[in-house]
Formats: sequence, structure tokens, C-alpha cells
Amino acid sequence: MNLREALAQAAALGLARIDAQLLLLHVLGRAGTERGWLVAHDDGTLPPAAEEAFAALCRRRAAGEPLAYLSGEKEFFGLPLRVDARVLVPRPDTETLVEWALEVLRPLPAPRVIDLGTGSGAIALAIRSARPDAVVEAVDRSADALAVARANAQRLELPVHLRQADWLAGAGRYDLIVSNPPYVREHDEHLATLRHEPRSALVAQDDGLADLRAIVAAAPAHLAPGGWLLLEHGWDQACAVEALLRDAGFSRLSSRKDLAGITRCSGGQVPELG
Ligand code: GLN
Repeated sequence: MNLREALAQAAALGLARIDAQLLLLHVLGRAGTERGWLVAHDDGTLPPAAEEAFAALCRRRAAGEPLAYLSGEKEFFGLPLRVDARVLVPRPDTETLVEWALEVLRPLPAPRVIDLGTGSGAIALAIRSARPDAVVEAVDRSADALAVARANAQRLELPVHLRQADWLAGAGRYDLIVSNPPYVREHDEHLATLRHEPRSALVAQDDGLADLRAIVAAAPAHLAPGGWLLLEHGWDQACAVEALLRDAGFSRLSSRKDLAGITRCSGGQVPELG
């Protein structure tokens, strides 16, 4: 079978062309950036073992497994992260949160930052890569997730202090607390499409607000004067999160939209001294 025929077979299973190309490059041991090579060499032969492996991956993709789990890699903020079913797949929308974090950190030399519920380490590693002077801590309550984050930190040579903890338990004081916590409602219909990802990284009690509420309540005691709390939340939770922030004494509240134009992140600052 040549590569063109393999791609046609994947299309017949219902795979998007880009997914099929990326999986084929993966079984050939080539980078996802080599789609041009694939197009130029599509009359090349696919060895039988690779054909078998490709067919198996295509079946899993057709059954809804995220592409990132099958290729084992997901790019986030320009960083090639390794991911698997122990962590949520980092979303491009979360890059909005990183961009905002970098903006609030811009005027601060050697800022202290903590990422709560770091999963693959995406947010913490992106911040550390853009701000090598930052002291970045990242926590997760899942030991499995921390193992993924630790491997990413080591491979990318980005020193981030990783620790197993429940939100801000045992934490110090920071210039920025950032988090993409679980925020999906328990019976949300979207969970069907997210069934391959860890439920503990997605679902929160209390209409999806329980973890956001816990973080907002604990944050002021862990922020330096003028420190920021920036949070990602669900498509319809901006008003609720803003109210939580206001009630907890945050000022300069603002929000950011994701790539689909949905208000996806909200945050605020604790008062400066004096
Ligand atoms: N953004 C994810 C989704 O809805 C949810 C991530 C989360 O709960 N933090 O697909």
C-alpha cells in the first residue's frame, strides 16, 4: 500500500485529512511539520508494520480519541508538549490565558508565579519559557498529571517547581496565580465528546463553579500587594466568576475572549499597599 492509499483508507473511516496526515507522519517517525513531504512522496510504500500501526491509530481516532493522545504530542504556545490520557489536552484557547499572564507580568522583575492544576504543565512551562527570570511553581492534585508535567519540564529544560497539592494548600505568596481548573458541569452534554480525557480535570460540582470558587476564596491570602489572579472558565461563567472575584475583594476586574470570541478568562488584582 502506498501513502496515498493509506490516506484514502483513513478518509473512508471518516478521519479529517489533517488528522490522517499527522497520524501517518507519526507512524513514519516524522514530525507533524512534514506534511509537505507527505504530499510530495505519496506514491512511496508504507511498510506492512507501519500500515498495521496506522490502521489501528485511525480506528482509535475514528472512535473519538484525541489526536494528541495518539501522536503523544501537542504544541502549546510554541512548546512541543508530550501528553497522554493522564492529562487534559492543552487547548489553543488557553494560550489566551498565557498571553494575559505575560502582560500582567511584563512590568515585574523576577515575578513569582503559581499555576494551579497544571496537568501537562502547559501554562507554567509557557510562562517560564517566555520569562526565564520568573520563579514558577505548578501544582496538581494528581500524581499522574505531575509525572507528565515533570517529564515535559525536564525535556524542555524549563525549571518549574512541581508539587502535589490541592489548589493553594501549602503555597507561599505570589505576584500571579493562574489556573485553568475543572469547570464543566456534571451533566454537561459536551462531556460525551470529552470522554477520553480525565474527568477530574474537567468536571466540577456546583454548576462547574466549585473549584473556581475555592481558588478565588483562597487566593487573596497568597497574593503579594498588587498581585493578580487570572482564571479560565466556561463559556457562560464570566458573570459568576466576576461576582466571585468582586466579593473576594479583587479590583481592576477584566476578562479576555478565546479564539471563538467567547469570554473565557476573567481576573483581577488585589489592592496595592498604601
Ligand atoms: N476547555 C475544556 C473544554 O471544554 C475544559 C477545560 C476545563 O474544564 N478546564 O473542552
